[in-house]
Amino acid sequence: MTDRIRRSRPIETCRFCSGALMTSVFDTVFRDPEADERLFFAIPGALCVPCRQLYVDQQLIGILGLDGARCTFAIESDRVLQTGHAGQAPAA
Ligand SMILES: [Zn+2]
Repeated sequence: MTDRIRRSRPIETCRFCSGALMTSVFDTVFRDPEADERLFFAIPGALCVPCRQLYVDQQLIGILGLDGARCTFAIESDRVLQTGHAGQAPAA
């Protein structure tokens, strides 16, 4: 009996496979239809692990100018865990 009550969980489910989404921050690659691949780091989103579908806030997509672009790669970022680290200032 390992079934859990899903209603109590605030996490959304994947619209393709109904799997639970992993909400985190991701390093991503988007392929723009009119340009090359573009890298974005520390993008907040929700990833469906079984079918590798990444959900990103539509408003953020607009801000980044990624309308029509497709996410071709995403990996959970560990940079957010190191933001308090002194002495390292990543280039913009
Ligand atoms: Zn899924």
